[in-house]
Amino acid sequence: MTSPWLQTDTIAVHAGREDLAGLGVHALPIDLSSTNPLPDIEAGGLSYEAMANGGTPTPEGGSVYARLWNPTVARFESALAELEHAEAAVAFASGMAAMTAAILAATSGTGRRHVLAVRPLYGGTDHLLSTGLLGTETTYCTAAEVAAAVRPDTAMVVLETPANPTLDLVDIRAVVTAARGVPVLVDNTFATPILQNPIDFGAAMVLHSATKYLGGHGDVVAGVIACSEETAAALRRVRAVTGGLLHPLGAYLLHRGLTTLPIRVRAQQAGAQRIAAWLQTHPAVARVHYPGIAGDPQGLLGTQMRGTGAMIAVDLRGGYEQARQVTSAVGLFTHAVSLGGVDSLIQHPAALTHRPVAGSAKPAASIVRLSIGLEAPDDLIADLDRALAAHRPVAAVEVLQA
Ligand SMILES: *Cc1c(COP(=O)(O)O)cnc(C)c1O
Repeated sequence: MTSPWLQTDTIAVHAGREDLAGLGVHALPIDLSSTNPLPDIEAGGLSYEAMANGGTPTPEGGSVYARLWNPTVARFESALAELEHAEAAVAFASGMAAMTAAILAATSGTGRRHVLAVRPLYGGTDHLLSTGLLGTETTYCTAAEVAAAVRPDTAMVVLETPANPTLDLVDIRAVVTAARGVPVLVDNTFATPILQNPIDFGAAMVLHSATKYLGGHGDVVAGVIACSEETAAALRRVRAVTGGLLHPLGAYLLHRGLTTLPIRVRAQQAGAQRIAAWLQTHPAVARVHYPGIAGDPQGLLGTQMRGTGAMIAVDLRGGYEQARQVTSAVGLFTHAVSLGGVDSLIQHPAALTHRPVAGSAKPAASIVRLSIGLEAPDDLIADLDRALAAHRPVAAVEVLQA
């Protein structure tokens, strides 16, 4: 734990590194051991039992086996917990492995298997809940409908803000109040801990697809949940038993990535603000979805969320046909799913990330989603301008000339 009075940028650089000086190293060590020497049967067995029940290794028994504990992963978890104002964090093999563990921890053996899902959600989350694969029963609702939809057997409420892909902001505190004690999980992937800390507003669990901004370089797939120590124990137990582990090489890259997270997010956000404003003036654009651009009636900007982020959804006048052309005409933007990296991406949510979402809740076919990276905003604007010009519905003048 670094000092509580330090600011976010300092925590991002120093958190989770408290034991390094004692080890005589400066950079983060990567421990790749799949197994660990045991001091003796008794001490090893007791440590094993502690970890299999969600606890931490005993100093006498050590970490025993990498499915139970890994120090490189644990350092990243402790840094992320600090950035999220949480007691603890638990890392997983992917964002969906993290979501699966959160659902299993909240439902299995609790007698509660009902999940309230505030739409819109990331397509994979929506899909996991709609399949009932984990034995859950899901009610989809809006934030305003949560109070009426909570049941005695409701195990958790799941929400995302800004929502994917519409960038709608959801009032976390209002949902927590409406949930009347039912734990609320907030997917904070889009905002990152730099722009929003859902625990400050009463969230019980904060989930990240660490694949996105936390990693930030498009080379790690991972997930993490920040929460209380008690919830972390339940999540670690699920992880130890089901094995959805984060590999220590991934944890190393994520932990290193955290050091530049504040400056990356702020620079990407500054670019996104310029690009969103430019898109709003473009004749091919029907509507720009970006936090604050259509006002902020709930007053969440500057209070719940400290910035507007670097994700933009664009509703194109030329509909699906234009979305198809723009995504293949871009040069600097890569046409690819995922988000949050140093390079800019463009994708079509209805066809890709939100493909498994039920028809009525699917994003419009005219929407493309942009993840703004660290390139010069003017270069990105020029790229979009060229790509938008590539769509030319047959104009009257051409018809006349023909
Ligand atoms: C990508 C994503 C996920 C899923 O994470 P993976 O790392 O791909 O498993 C969950 N939520 C949001 C908002 C995402 O963007």
